[in-house]
Amino acid sequence: MARDAVAEVARVGREVARAAARAVDAEGRFPAETLAALKACGALGAAVPAELGGGGLGLGALAESCTALAQHCASSAMILAMHHIQVASLADHRDGSREIDAYLRRVAAEQRLIASVTSEVGPGGDMRRSVAAIAEDGARFSLKKQATTISYGREADDLLLTVRRHAGASPHDQVLVLLLAGEYVLTPTGAWDALGMRGTCSIPAVVEGGGAPWQVLATPFGDVAAQSMVPVSHVLWASCWLGIAIDAVAIARAKLRGEARARAGTLPPEAARLAETGAKLQLLRSEVSAATADCARMRAAGDRDALASLGTALRMNDLKLSASRLAVDIVGEALGVCGIAGYRNDSPYSIGRHLRDVLSAPLMIQNQRLLETNAGLWMVGKGEA
Ligand SMILES: Cc1cc2nc3c(=O)[nH]c(=O)nc-3n(C[C@H](O)[C@H](O)[C@H](O)COP(=O)(O)OP(=O)(O)OC[C@H]3O[C@@H](n4cnc5c(N)ncnc54)[C@H](O)[C@@H]3O)c2cc1C
Repeated sequence: MARDAVAEVARVGREVARAAARAVDAEGRFPAETLAALKACGALGAAVPAELGGGGLGLGALAESCTALAQHCASSAMILAMHHIQVASLADHRDGSREIDAYLRRVAAEQRLIASVTSEVGPGGDMRRSVAAIAEDGARFSLKKQATTISYGREADDLLLTVRRHAGASPHDQVLVLLLAGEYVLTPTGAWDALGMRGTCSIPAVVEGGGAPWQVLATPFGDVAAQSMVPVSHVLWASCWLGIAIDAVAIARAKLRGEARARAGTLPPEAARLAETGAKLQLLRSEVSAATADCARMRAAGDRDALASLGTALRMNDLKLSASRLAVDIVGEALGVCGIAGYRNDSPYSIGRHLRDVLSAPLMIQNQRLLETNAGLWMVGKGEA
């Protein structure tokens, strides 16, 4: 079952996403045809538990599918990854809520797309601080948030936002809130004309909306972040960057093999550089696969304490730091191997889109922030690093 689901996403990558990727990037448009194909094969329900009608895929299979898709269109893969992260956060913390169960059933049945609204004007990328707050309004709540970056904000059905628990709460006293289509207004305050990941359409916007009490998760956001959102994000983001790196190296290899065929018996001068890049790619694969396996094991066992432990926080932040750096390095090396053919946008060996897309990796939660967090963890932690 899981194998089939991953194979289906890989097929959508090969047959739909690859053909559209160049236009998606050039026009900075949402990869609508790829998302339609993903919905057609039920991919948006992959992270919904099987008992709620979803695919019930574990983290390992979700990660594999993101890597498979990113080899064809990184923006599409990042959209799929971000959606899975929202679903996993809700599914992990539904804690007996019949309404959240019913909502997740709808996600699987209707293939609803969920966007993430954590970044905010003021705290920026500091996910653990909010300015916006919930206002109680009788039996319903309302909120208004000024978001800096909402990927596929216009195209999503529903939104998952971080806000303060109430107007008097501290910036860290946050909850996760689900806003449903038709119950919020999203007003863009700018466009997404970015260097890369152009198909994610990550616009700045003001979100105003409200809902019923069940749409505010009972679990404090600090716990959701530590046990679900952060580890799942780092695994699935890193899986996307791995896919970009795999394709860049494949392009470099194809270029050199063409040259080798044309001059039989001689090794192209850049062949040793390709081999070096291949070794780095292997390192990236190993890091992503080992961290994914660790995290998947804890998730499958439902071990929330282990997921929220200091050691896991360090491990997952380390994954993000090393995968984002390695992926940028590998794609840069692939460009070096391809030379001017890689630098050109109109060549079959172009690496331009890969490089621009992968440069988002160190910024998507700034590495500097994670280093500062890890620095603190190193100081307080006990035992072996
Ligand atoms: C492709 C892409 C898609 C995205 N999609 C979404 C999305 O769907 N939803 C969403 O909510 N966000 C999204 N983001 C935003 C992302 O999560 C981060 O919020 C954003 O990339 C960080 O922005 P920033 O560079 O302004 O850094 P900030 O984190 O705001 O930091 C600003 C500056 O302060 C520095 N700094 C370092 N450490 C600290 C510290 N401890 N305190 C203060 N400043 C520090 C940083 O290095 C940086 O130079 C997306 C980003 C990208 C690249």
